[in-house]
Amino acid sequence: MQKVEGLRAKWIEARPQGLYLPSADAWVDPSQPVARALVTHGHADHARGGHGEVWATPETLAIMTVRYGEQTAAAAVAYREPLAVGDVTATFFPAGHVLGSAQILLEKDGERVVVSGDYKRRPDPTCAPFEPVPCDVFITEATFGLPVFRHPDTRDEIAKLLAARAANPARCVLVGAYALGKAQRVIAELRGAGFEEPIYIHGALQRLCDLYRELGVDLGELRLVADAAKAEMEGAIVLCPPSALNDRWSRRLPDPITAMASGWMRVRQRARQRNVELPIVLSDHADWDELTDTLLEIRPVEVWVTHGRDDALVHWCMTRQIKAKPLHLAHYEDEDD
Ligand SMILES: [Zn+2]
Ligand SMILES: [Zn+2]
Repeated sequence: MQKVEGLRAKWIEARPQGLYLPSADAWVDPSQPVARALVTHGHADHARGGHGEVWATPETLAIMTVRYGEQTAAAAVAYREPLAVGDVTATFFPAGHVLGSAQILLEKDGERVVVSGDYKRRPDPTCAPFEPVPCDVFITEATFGLPVFRHPDTRDEIAKLLAARAANPARCVLVGAYALGKAQRVIAELRGAGFEEPIYIHGALQRLCDLYRELGVDLGELRLVADAAKAEMEGAIVLCPPSALNDRWSRRLPDPITAMASGWMRVRQRARQRNVELPIVLSDHADWDELTDTLLEIRPVEVWVTHGRDDALVHWCMTRQIKAKPLHLAHYEDEDD
């Protein structure tokens, strides 16, 4: 266990398996099953099955039900509605990361701590935008917490997909995209760019695409690759999970151009590892400018950095007289980028 020494909000402990609130016996995004969990969003490194009581937004609970089955004692929490968890008040605010994603404001003893979970500041047609919440301590993610990470304009990246498709009418463009959030965002961005033809999807994307639609996100016409003839998919855009990009499954497609949508496509090495011909840099995390601009906007007294590359952001805070420290929570390379 790591005590957060000499700083504010001593009622929160950073433990390897998550943030712990001892007085409420509750955890935020615990990586193991616990009695009481507050969950920021549905990605697997934040939402696990098997907890006792769970508090999350209705969308996150619906995503958890799709992935882990019915939660035994789940309570849906609407954005901006304060909730008492023991002696801590928790309020969820939109994080702009994926559908239902939340930052959680924790209040106790007159101190306000915001756990960002994962967040981004760019518009995303599939979820509510990030809301800056005044606080004493801001616990920020730092997935792309290096100055080299500056995400390009979303429209330009989507235009690359459409251009590759237009230039290759006898082939298809196969886009690797994670099943929760990224796949639906790519589809919604394509629709927003005026692309109205059916989009073909791998079966592994179906349940979450269906759920997004049930929850009001318009994705246009989707067809399952399994139900389509090869010739029908010439000139089409096809989405699959990244794991299917290079496997036998893709043989059923007409001469695919391999693309992948991820913030990591900014790193050539990552694109090469997956044999990606057409890297699409599309991230659901804040880039360096978004991270630092957000801190300047919120102006917390302290910043605790988690979830990624913390050194540069901690240093950036120090040079601006903002107290900062890395939390070193257990973290693994995850599905959400
Ligand atoms: Zn994450
Ligand atoms: Zn995430």
